[in-house]
Amino acid sequence: MNIIESIKPYFLDMKVNGSHRYDHSLRVHNLGKYITAKEGGDMEIVQAACLLHDIGRGRKKGICHAELGAQMSEEILKSLGFPEEKIQRVVYCVRVHRYSKGINPETLEAKILQDADRLEEIGAIAIARGLAEDIIKGKPLYDPIIEPNSIYVSGGNKTSINFLIEKSLKLKPEKFHTKTAQELAKNRYEFTEQFVKRVIEEWNI
Ligand code: FE
Repeated sequence: MNIIESIKPYFLDMKVNGSHRYDHSLRVHNLGKYITAKEGGDMEIVQAACLLHDIGRGRKKGICHAELGAQMSEEILKSLGFPEEKIQRVVYCVRVHRYSKGINPETLEAKILQDADRLEEIGAIAIARGLAEDIIKGKPLYDPIIEPNSIYVSGGNKTSINFLIEKSLKLKPEKFHTKTAQELAKNRYEFTEQFVKRVIEEWNI
């Protein structure tokens, strides 16, 4: 089974903004594969979980996208003939992946999905994804009067820079589960930190 091609059609009817389309899932998949090759874990489970982790986004109000995604993943994998004994392990990864839920996963594959998804929250692509989304929403880049919140609340930030401070810069490299992700996170974290610093410096000249 070509897992990438098999899962892609399920994203066609997804109504989400630019930052969570299939290309995000593909990058999480590539990161997941890279981490698994170094850390171990079941590659098939990681690939399926990474590709499907956001499948529940933007579909139904009142249900967490990770929970809906877990339910949808089970149905999709069954219909694709994915190895039966691995389906629940993928479902578990999807169910616990969400950043704002703060769940500490019990399996290596679920840890790898969280690491891969969180690596997408820091670095150059993360900044570009955030800005692209914020421009459409009309959110300002920065405002020296608006202080960042100390705790991240989904949708609670008022500027793009505050989002990076409230969410991305809380993802310190040592907070990632695997050594491989910690290594990848260092560079991305420093870049994000530099970007935030420079915007504030240039603004407040
Ligand atoms: Fe994601």
